[in-house]
Amino acid sequence: MKVYYDLHIHSALSPCASDDMTPNNVINMSLLKGLNVIAITDHNCAKNVEVFMMLGERKGLTIIPGMEVQTKEEVHMLCYFYTLDACLAFQDMWERSLTRIPNRPDYFGNQLILDENDDVVGEYPLLLLTSSAYSVKDVFQLINGIGVAVFAHVDRSSYSVLSNLGFIPSDVPISSLEVSKYISPKDFLTKYPNYSKYRILQSSDAHYLGDIMERENYLELENAVTISIKDILDVLKNVA
Ligand SMILES: [Zn+2]
Ligand SMILES: [Zn+2]
Repeated sequence: MKVYYDLHIHSALSPCASDDMTPNNVINMSLLKGLNVIAITDHNCAKNVEVFMMLGERKGLTIIPGMEVQTKEEVHMLCYFYTLDACLAFQDMWERSLTRIPNRPDYFGNQLILDENDDVVGEYPLLLLTSSAYSVKDVFQLINGIGVAVFAHVDRSSYSVLSNLGFIPSDVPISSLEVSKYISPKDFLTKYPNYSKYRILQSSDAHYLGDIMERENYLELENAVTISIKDILDVLKNVA
């Protein structure tokens, strides 16, 4: 079974994302594009994940609970969780590790918490574009057994593991890497042949509705008849 995905989408909770990235807008656009599964990955926070999952279930789109965390090395990592509860527990712990700076919506952008009607029910008060006290290595330990971590946009020249550490650490349990939409997985592997042992994912990192991925990249779920979060994360954990 081929499952078309976009596993890196920001909602209006991320200050740098458009206020139009509401649950209904994002889900409707993803369905329009013919996607089967998306992940909501706001910067350092998961306060909109629950409403997305509830609406996704209603509208027939699988939503993976996620976050895009920023480690103390300023490396962006996508964290995907088997369950909403695991995601929310992780985020509670993660938010206590963040540098505490009040958000300035006029400067950084709004951090909107939304309901199923896309109405604003709150604003996250502290700036989400900060680093955690946790390291890359800590993330793998914290997510062990409850989800999967993937290095985000590894081809990018900032906030990526390659730009900030210079290499993929060999002592962490990583199976998948994400490249941005500015390079194809094939071109990435031509540039970095040593990384062919990893599964290369490509997602949009959408901050605007128009950025959401077309029906281009898919995961193959062996022997599956329905799409489950567990099956998808198990694929990400195993090398192609
Ligand atoms: Zn990022
Ligand atoms: Zn992102």
